[in-house]
Amino acid sequence: MWGDIIRGSCQQLLDILFPPQCVQCQTSGAILCPRCLASISWFMPPLCHTCGLPQSGTDLCTRCQYQPLQLNGVRAVGSYQEPLRSNIRALKYQGNTRLGEPLGKLLAQAYIKHGIRADLIIPLPLHQEKLQQRGYNQSQLLAESCARQLQLPLQTTLVRRIRTTPAQVTLTARQRRANLQGAFCCAPDPTTQSLFNRRILVIDDVCTTGATLEACAAPLFEAGAREVWGLVLARPTR
Ligand SMILES: [Zn+2]
Ligand SMILES: [Zn+2]
Repeated sequence: MWGDIIRGSCQQLLDILFPPQCVQCQTSGAILCPRCLASISWFMPPLCHTCGLPQSGTDLCTRCQYQPLQLNGVRAVGSYQEPLRSNIRALKYQGNTRLGEPLGKLLAQAYIKHGIRADLIIPLPLHQEKLQQRGYNQSQLLAESCARQLQLPLQTTLVRRIRTTPAQVTLTARQRRANLQGAFCCAPDPTTQSLFNRRILVIDDVCTTGATLEACAAPLFEAGAREVWGLVLARPTR
């Protein structure tokens, strides 16, 4: 609680010294202004029960019928387009870590909207090398804000990324999955014992095919997790 108060006061002071500017429209006053926030196009039902992408008719989209995801499901705020795209890029590549807070709140809204039930939140871990390059894990900033909003426990050291993987942009879904096999591992016991029968929510910024979330879910299932869900800000749609 004191942590929240101190964090809040520091942010207020920072906002006075360096007034925030909207990443998208440069309006002064908020890092993500109310107008841009309202312009986000949320995914609307009907959604595929597994991958969470908009689709017509049946419970599962064609892709999930033939190639089921190796986790319980993925949900996203919306499509990878403006203003989400610029906000995610600013958070991830331009060091705009202040965006973690409002974007994490969006994730918390999506969690409630989609009726997800989790006992524990974890951020998708970055490989140590990448973490040193970037200086922070954007997924962790999102997860911290989201967990605070939902008052759910957050675990940031449970899963580690033990292997870096080459860029996946040109790979098919099947190739991505193979490429990522064994890329994540769970912390050794006794920490993992606490995972038995738990429902875990993995937070990331963007999800393309779901292969990275699946790879992260694998050691969690091995450690006894009952459900693993992915929650992201945006998904590219064709
Ligand atoms: Zn704006
Ligand atoms: Zn689907």
